[in-house]
Amino acid sequence: MLSLINHVVRISARRDRTEINSAMVDALMDLFSPQRLTIHRCYTGKRKAVAFACAGYGPQGHFLRNAYLPDHHFCQPIDRDPLLKQCRKELSAVIDFLDDGSHRIVFPVVRLDEPVYFVDLTLSDEFSADRRVTLMGLIEYFGNHIALLDYGEADTLTGLSSRKTFDKHLFELLGQAASDEMVGNDPSYARRTLAPNSSHWLAVCDIDHFKRINDQFGHLIGDEVLIMLAQVMRQSFRFDDQLFRFGGEEFVALLQPTDRQSAAATLERFRADVEKNLFSRVGHVSISIGFSRLHACDTPTDVIERADEALYYAKRNGRNQVACYETLIENGSLAAREIAKGEVELF
Ligand code: GH3
Ligand code: MG
Ligand code: MG
Repeated sequence: MLSLINHVVRISARRDRTEINSAMVDALMDLFSPQRLTIHRCYTGKRKAVAFACAGYGPQGHFLRNAYLPDHHFCQPIDRDPLLKQCRKELSAVIDFLDDGSHRIVFPVVRLDEPVYFVDLTLSDEFSADRRVTLMGLIEYFGNHIALLDYGEADTLTGLSSRKTFDKHLFELLGQAASDEMVGNDPSYARRTLAPNSSHWLAVCDIDHFKRINDQFGHLIGDEVLIMLAQVMRQSFRFDDQLFRFGGEEFVALLQPTDRQSAAATLERFRADVEKNLFSRVGHVSISIGFSRLHACDTPTDVIERADEALYYAKRNGRNQVACYETLIENGSLAAREIAKGEVELF
């Protein structure tokens, strides 16, 4: 059995959230032998709060899921589970005694008065105060380690993910896109059924005439607009869409798999939300958006270039609008790009 300190060293050596979760599950299993264990990541905010079971141990043994890309199939509304609901409300450990003599105990990892994780264990017997202190310390350590990572990866002005994490997120998505394509051909995989024409989408959003805002109101007010825009963005997109500030006044959204119409509707809603919003002293601001489908063979540059082309089209054609690269190609508004191998991209 590894000692507590060895487990802490193993967790601290990792920078990837999925691996950290895995090391945390090993530590909890080894030190506390729970009958069941789930690490839930929480998504709160303005919309319905959900928990994503990202790692743990259940009747089928260990499970581990991509901690960056929550999968709908393993998310549940927090309110549907009374103990998670209570834990969110009280923001401290809560316990439920089960009929078979075991008990379920949920510890929150809290940030800014909202849980960011729940550590959910079912234990067969009461453990000593000492062991309880050890468990709480380990969970607190886990929360601090994740908080440091989050802080390092966030854009300091807006708190959205920064450009430097984009490539990693995109490679994870592209890996998933490739496996989705394989799964699509395999009828035995009932769980991950993607609708035909459904895929990830990448959108580049750029504020219209932002230079004027800076010139008229100054850079500090300009920065405030960027912060408020990020807030609108968080409220407008779904919890599992990945949002980035790319630097300057450019924002990027990576959308979960959907068809072209739904992607366009999501982005149109965001555009309209920005148009409606009052940006304090500046008043109304608009954005233009270009988006494109993500292919399994894309590099980050490929897909960004396509979305950028659509964005420039939107800028040239009056701004404050959403343009889809594939639609512009199909209706002849843009010429298809020659790709590296000399082939013309087909749609
Ligand atoms: P367009 O509608 O064509 O996008 O016009 P624009 O004026 O927004 O043009 P562009 O996107 O090229 O301008 C970017 C400007 O954004 C340049 C710079 O003054 C401003 N900017 C870039 N980064 C920041 C920042 O971090 N803070 C502030 N306040 N302004 C920034
Ligand atoms: Mg720009
Ligand atoms: Mg701009």
